[in-house]
Amino acid sequence: MIFIKKIKEMKSYIKEKKREGKIIGFVPTMGYLHPGHLSLIKKAKEDCEVVVVSIFVNPTQFGRGEDYEHYPRNLERDKKLCQEEGVDVIFAPEVKEMYPQGYSTFVEVEGMFSSILEGASRPGHFRGVTTVLTKLFHIISPDYSYFGEKDYQQALVVKKMVKDLSLNTQIFVLPTVREEDGLAVSSRNFYLNKEERKEAAILHKSLISAKEEVRKGERDPRYLISFMKNLIEKEPLAEIDYIAVVNPETLEEVKKINKKVLLILAVNIGKTRLIDNIKLKIR
Ligand code: AMP
Repeated sequence: MIFIKKIKEMKSYIKEKKREGKIIGFVPTMGYLHPGHLSLIKKAKEDCEVVVVSIFVNPTQFGRGEDYEHYPRNLERDKKLCQEEGVDVIFAPEVKEMYPQGYSTFVEVEGMFSSILEGASRPGHFRGVTTVLTKLFHIISPDYSYFGEKDYQQALVVKKMVKDLSLNTQIFVLPTVREEDGLAVSSRNFYLNKEERKEAAILHKSLISAKEEVRKGERDPRYLISFMKNLIEKEPLAEIDYIAVVNPETLEEVKKINKKVLLILAVNIGKTRLIDNIKLKIR
């Protein structure tokens, strides 16, 4: 496994591999790798001849007062995990390599996707995500790129950007990997103390309970939202940011539940902001 910090070196490695006709797979991450990331890496290994994992805690996607400084980092552990998975290259640039002094170019997907739900709660977040990914896609030129369904809205924004800008990578979105009690695995779970960790299970529990209500015949999104709200509010450390019942393709709120819907939520447990979602198919 090779470890690369410089853009120039990364580009020349890729150029060589492209010359050899290799299929390049790419898994962008902010590191502190966990089984969610590893599931993306495993799929990339299955599909591609060369797998690149980027590890970069991207400052432009964190808002003021968010957890950029405290975001968990452990490069040595990440290297070991990548090595075990057979990753070919880790690309881990420093901030000044990606955003040298005077940097001033940003990529933004305008409209709905970026201005509701996560976009509304975290202004500028998706602009940071799409900017760094545009750079990474240019540097790595991946044939295939892998994302997690846990960050559902992010995956939609990225797909839209790739389509709008005619980028040459195909996006795959893989299912959320969960802990035994259903909590979506996340680097941010590291922040939770014992009590908070126990309460955090309520995100997935509320989604699953709402799913069960729909299975029993409930079709009113307003009822489902207040049903989930009641469940979550029973946990003393939980504070809801949003709960929404939306069309999985457009993220528009639905008035009535039919065919496919996405239940999506963001909840603070203590100081830690967690997100989750579940897609329902109604027969
Ligand atoms: P992050 O390091 O949090 O930016 O995540 C990097 C990639 O891993 C993103 O595409 C995430 O959606 C994905 N990811 C994070 N958590 C999970 C999970 N529990 N299951 C599957 N994919 C995940």
